[in-house]
Amino acid sequence: MKTAKFGGTSLADAARFRQVKRIVSADPELRFVVVSAPGKRSAEDKKVTDLLYDCHAAVKTGTDPETAFAPVAVRFRQIAQELRLSIDLEAELRQIEKDLRSGASAAYCASRGEYLSGRMLAALLGWPFLDPAELHFFDADGVPQHKLAEQALMHRLHDMERAVMPGFYGGGADGRIHTLPRGGSDISGALLASASGSDAYENWTDVDGFLTADPRVVDSPEIIDFLSYRELRELAYMGAEVLHPESIFPVRSVGIPINIKNTFNPTYHGTMIVAEKNLPKNKKIITGIAGKKGFTIINIEKDMMNSEIGFGRKVLSVLEFEGISFEHVPSGIDTLSVVIRDEYIAGKMQKVLAALQESINADNIEIHSGLSLIATVGHNMASRQGTAATLFGALADANVNVRMIDQGSSELNIIVGVDTFDYEKAINSIYHAFKQ
Ligand code: ASP
Repeated sequence: MKTAKFGGTSLADAARFRQVKRIVSADPELRFVVVSAPGKRSAEDKKVTDLLYDCHAAVKTGTDPETAFAPVAVRFRQIAQELRLSIDLEAELRQIEKDLRSGASAAYCASRGEYLSGRMLAALLGWPFLDPAELHFFDADGVPQHKLAEQALMHRLHDMERAVMPGFYGGGADGRIHTLPRGGSDISGALLASASGSDAYENWTDVDGFLTADPRVVDSPEIIDFLSYRELRELAYMGAEVLHPESIFPVRSVGIPINIKNTFNPTYHGTMIVAEKNLPKNKKIITGIAGKKGFTIINIEKDMMNSEIGFGRKVLSVLEFEGISFEHVPSGIDTLSVVIRDEYIAGKMQKVLAALQESINADNIEIHSGLSLIATVGHNMASRQGTAATLFGALADANVNVRMIDQGSSELNIIVGVDTFDYEKAINSIYHAFKQ
């Protein structure tokens, strides 16, 4: 048995709904489907979810929300008419307009894209519709309760053969709609896969799978055939955007593989995301390279820092007090560095420096901004000698100055910090050094 999630581009218009129907009908094992709201039909188009956030902005500013809602209504009407769906779409649209007029929340507005998309696909397939408002719980602070959701879904699915469920939203203890983070339908799909006891979770999108590197940086990178859950976390955290990184948790604990598939190339095998023990033995040393721009590093020097008890805590307390989260803390004997995202430290640097100086009385504090981080990820690095030599050799040959190095003890990942002007050059040199 399988659960599939179809993303926004897979449901952007009536023709794509038909393609989804072809995919679902061709596979009798596929019994549970989660949908996103219709996405962009072309590069200039707007996602329905973004249009719905515009509706909420209109509600908040007191401008007529119906004008903002008109393009959403047009898109759903077009799809319903072309597919000749037998749902009362006009009644649904009237209800949403009514709710908008009475001051609907941002979460309610945004959720209507997935809701209508789910209603329409259920009608097209002739399958039952499951509303997550009653099944995916959020606590009083709006925090999603995935475990409770899984139990409720399990209970609900007990005697259901098939179902279509909208992703991205759920209902709170307060009876209101709440949403997951953007791209959160991937998480809803993973919960449904786990709750239904599926053997696989297919995530249908508009690309053939995860790439070994960003195609905007590297020319024609290859597709990754197999990826472990942990490798996915590392690559996704560093910017590889195919699947919401939180979506692995519900499936990883029960060992359900995730298969990234392309709605527009359905016969291609895509990327399989599996537990480490199920990775093929002949996997390459490096699975993928990902990177992010926009970091600042604060280098702190103080003689005998290593023997000063509480030094690290004091440094991190200053950041905590300012509400700043950090990414990495590489350290030496008399030095400690903290890597922070630019957006977190923006406007707070002077305060942080003053507080640090007061708290730790450092010999020297230096700031280096314009830093990019690059992660080279792969389980097989641990068992091969010379991986670091290849990586740093490639960077040296390319004349890239390495500002920071961090390697987790798991040896799954080597992270280097480079000047942002060297970012593309650094990624390309690592990529080509490991290309076999
Ligand atoms: N429609 C939502 C978004 O655009 C959620 C999703 O597609 O997963 O973020």
